[in-house]
Amino acid sequence: MPILTKRQNKTPLGLYIHVPFCRSKCQYCDFYSLACKEDKLMDGYLEAVCDHVKETGALAPGYKVDTIYFGGGTPSFFGADGMATILTTIRRNFDVDNNAEITFEANPDSISDKLLHRLRAEGFNRVSLGIQSDDDEMLKKLGRPHTFAQAATAVQRIRKAGYKNLSLDLMYGLPGQTLRAWQDTLEHVLTLNPEHISCYGLKVEEGTPLYDYQDYAKLPDDDTQADMYLAMIEILKGHGFRQYEISNFARKGLYSKHNMKYWTGGEYLGFGPSASSDFAGKRFTLCRSVHDYINGIKKKGQIIDEVQEIPPRERAGEYLMLRLRTFSGINAEDYERNFLLPFAPLEDILEHNRNLGYAVLTEDNRWHLTPKGFLISNSIISDLLVAQDKSEPLKRL
Ligand code: SF4
Repeated sequence: MPILTKRQNKTPLGLYIHVPFCRSKCQYCDFYSLACKEDKLMDGYLEAVCDHVKETGALAPGYKVDTIYFGGGTPSFFGADGMATILTTIRRNFDVDNNAEITFEANPDSISDKLLHRLRAEGFNRVSLGIQSDDDEMLKKLGRPHTFAQAATAVQRIRKAGYKNLSLDLMYGLPGQTLRAWQDTLEHVLTLNPEHISCYGLKVEEGTPLYDYQDYAKLPDDDTQADMYLAMIEILKGHGFRQYEISNFARKGLYSKHNMKYWTGGEYLGFGPSASSDFAGKRFTLCRSVHDYINGIKKKGQIIDEVQEIPPRERAGEYLMLRLRTFSGINAEDYERNFLLPFAPLEDILEHNRNLGYAVLTEDNRWHLTPKGFLISNSIISDLLVAQDKSEPLKRL
């Protein structure tokens, strides 16, 4: 791992552990995960991640880990023992903040009281539960291995085990789904009383089974998806949720601290096949095969698929693309100070969008998009990037 360097000052760091195992593969899923429960492969994976954590921790002193996220795949399907072992190895090799946010993703069919209590005792304090829909027929169609009743029971168990920060994952724009059905789903799911909700519009990804039969899947058209998006924002607002990112909503300020790192340019290190990192000015992605990952770690060979050094101008573009996904938005002073580029050409575009109701300038001088603006964020950001590309660096601040 020659690309990690020593640093003098304590810097916040997020750790992501990709757990690439699921009970079965969902029809729409493009994440790297295998539908299997092969003990030998899981053992090999566990050993590889722990070795990877050990060698990386030793090469990256001076960082304080304030978020740890076990995603996948289905970490709850992988099991509590493996996750606890990885977390213990992290604590031994990184400086982990006592108040770190420690999340694991779970599916309702692989949650048990034993797993929840064990992980709570180990220090996990946030659960992200994949529910997706309250309609059992729809769940079956999507290839999800659980029912809504299992999801409701899982929530009760999570609460009983003492987790005070629960996020639920939902999807809209599903095959045959109407606006009314989506509104009902939201109202129904809100009775489970989560602190956080992530709602993603279904995307048809190449290489998934859904891609092959999308023409027959009766997917809602773009206008209906847009109506679903705007209706969702209103419903969640009415239930006390603040939208803090295009697809994420939280109560009581309980934003996902880990995911905020991705959107605000924070540093993070990834472990496990296909995991990405943004660390010490470089971005890198690990190989997308659990076998290659295990072999690479064992033989001290190559496990990185792609390394990119991000030039300042590209970072400036990312600042616009990622920050404008969030409600904290962008600020002229931050932008000019960090990237030595003029904000004025961007301001003209933002003003224009403000007049159209797509952007807002807050009292503390931050520009962010409105819900309607989020719907056309790609085209607004593309206009901003063109203006940024044409701008000459500032001579002085
Ligand atoms: S459970 Fe999640 S990671 Fe696994 S196949 Fe389904 S969508 Fe993909």
